[in-house]
Amino acid sequence: MRPIKIAAAAGTGASVPVECCQVCGSTQLDDVLSLGYMPPVNQMVPIGQVPRQQPWFPTNLLHCRDCDLVQLGLAVDPVIIFPPEYPYTSGTTKLLRDNFAELQRESAAMLGLGDKDLVVDIGSNDGTLLSNFQNGGYRVLGIEPTDVGDIANGKGIPTLKRYFGVEVAREVKRQYGPASVVTAANCFAHIEDVHAIVDAIVEMLKKDGVFVSESHYLIPLLDTLQYDTVYHEHLRYYSLTSLKHLLEMHDLEVFHTRPIPSHGGSIRVYAARHGAHTVQDSVRKMLSAEPRGDAMTKRLATFRRDVILSKLRLLSMLRELKEKGARIAGISAPSRASTLVNYVGLDEGLIDYVCEIAGSLKIGKCMPGTQIPVVDETKLFSDQPDCAIIFSWHIADELAPKLKAKGFRGRLITPLPVPKFL
Ligand SMILES: [Zn+2]
Repeated sequence: MRPIKIAAAAGTGASVPVECCQVCGSTQLDDVLSLGYMPPVNQMVPIGQVPRQQPWFPTNLLHCRDCDLVQLGLAVDPVIIFPPEYPYTSGTTKLLRDNFAELQRESAAMLGLGDKDLVVDIGSNDGTLLSNFQNGGYRVLGIEPTDVGDIANGKGIPTLKRYFGVEVAREVKRQYGPASVVTAANCFAHIEDVHAIVDAIVEMLKKDGVFVSESHYLIPLLDTLQYDTVYHEHLRYYSLTSLKHLLEMHDLEVFHTRPIPSHGGSIRVYAARHGAHTVQDSVRKMLSAEPRGDAMTKRLATFRRDVILSKLRLLSMLRELKEKGARIAGISAPSRASTLVNYVGLDEGLIDYVCEIAGSLKIGKCMPGTQIPVVDETKLFSDQPDCAIIFSWHIADELAPKLKAKGFRGRLITPLPVPKFL
């Protein structure tokens, strides 16, 4: 059954609470965890601007007892969370670039694509994913509502600057023909009316066309306490169980899946119309390893307790450092840093500044909800603060050696899953 009441905040300029499961419509929703009130993660005001009134929204997770979907308890108008100047470009992270190159190789080999095949990417950002398919010789089309789409068009990757929906899907089909592959990398959790989006995807697909989605995966999120990936852009946190349930409501069959490293643990899921592709054993294997029902309820209760403890542990570590007079900086300002900073209660009194690599659109602004300035990374090496917290802690292995090689002599801290010095 589809939800009777979709939490549709689009066009309200505000937010709408989730009152029934956004996939199966059940009202049996249990509270998992509340992170308090949070500013939108991209609400970054220029350094030095006089503080003004800003919106904050409740941020809590719900678990559906009927389909096991974990979802955010509130939908915020996309105009607020995806402003046109949305300062995020996927091309800047090596891990993501490598993953998208690998996605192209895997799917092209598995599906036997040819040069006539059309690949459509929803939420195509700066075209990083599609550039791999374009280099592979396929026809490509991106759909990206924010100004980042201009970067893709500038690189020669055709991109429609529109919000995706069934109308856009029909238009694409008329103009370009049906798609052999539709990809949605990490935007599939972002869209309010997920049923309308899957309808629109099915509308664009060829008879044996394949929908490839990449989403944050709930299981590693729980295992490594990634509560910092909870923010208003992410409306849903899928397990394979809950994602498969959603796709089956649209007669799509999951035929292959595998874990990928993006964003600290994601899943790539291949789906197509029933019977169009042979179902691989990867699906059964992953499903059987996931907790469901009461086991999931118990798992989520443990997660909640561990998240609260991790906050206290990080604060206690920082208190000790501050009592010794240490100066502390932050490394990188991904969206997830906003959740961590606001949930733990870090501010400009604790963190002097946060560094981003040159070229980042976040430099010159403040961390959301605080007056912690975001500055060019070179400051870290000239200033040499005593410690630096790596907010992109899920790629600390990639970042730490680089920071040391560039000359940072202070101590590096990863805040999660257990706060520690590297
Ligand atoms: Zn449900």
